[in-house]
Amino acid sequence: MKFTVLTLFPDFVNSFFMNGMISRAVKKKIISCISINIRDFAFNHHKTVDDKPYGGGCGMVIKPEPLYAAVKYARKDRPDSRVILMTPQGRPFDQKKAWDFAKKKKSLVFICGRYEGIDERINYSLVDEEISIGDYVMTGGELAAMVIIDSVTRLLPDVLGGKESVDIDSFQNGRLEYAHYTRPSRFKDMDIPDVLLSGNHKKIEKWRITSSLKRTFLKRPDLFTQKKLKEHEKQILKKWCRELEELIKK
Ligand code: SAM
Repeated sequence: MKFTVLTLFPDFVNSFFMNGMISRAVKKKIISCISINIRDFAFNHHKTVDDKPYGGGCGMVIKPEPLYAAVKYARKDRPDSRVILMTPQGRPFDQKKAWDFAKKKKSLVFICGRYEGIDERINYSLVDEEISIGDYVMTGGELAAMVIIDSVTRLLPDVLGGKESVDIDSFQNGRLEYAHYTRPSRFKDMDIPDVLLSGNHKKIEKWRITSSLKRTFLKRPDLFTQKKLKEHEKQILKKWCRELEELIKK
């Protein structure tokens, strides 16, 4: 899979490409990552990439000509590339979208805005889709592009150690993942649940489903409306309710 990031801060993006899981995936040739400096496509002597907004007002806007040339360059050997504009006004990114990219797309080009954003004419002439990583405004689109590249890459075959770790991730099955513990079994007077030391895989599996359901209920009950409760999940939650009632009565 190929990721191309159009940015005014290529060093920022390159440092991300050179570390951790991303750099290992590059070495294994599972992905290729390129940053393109939009400024390299500026026409004038001063390499100007921004200008004042028509109609007045604060801030600067990224000019259309350099960005247009940069997108054309990024797509020249991959005309099938999907061009994505990072913008707080885009569709919110989620795990489903990450899977969609991981399964269906072979080349993604990210436009990272700065200042007040980009000239709108680039948006409607070259952009295939607008994506936001949340309802807040950052100074640039680079972090947003990195979020997408990171979450898509870890879903690609042979990137993570075991396939299971992706299968049990939060959101994968419309639930949050269960709680994790590691050695030591006692830490500052806190013990891990006995069942995890029992060696009984059936009981451990049941404990994990219960943990996942409780966490989803407490932290993200909205997920239950996206994926309805199955019968065995209902039973687990009902049992938990009964335990809570007993506790309250005491
Ligand atoms: N004036 C714009 C607005 O209100 O919609 C925001 C511009 S923002 C300061 C500069 C750039 O950061 C944007 O062009 C975009 O590329 C990026 N950006 C900021 N917040 C983002 C978010 N939540 N998701 C994706 N990109 C974002």
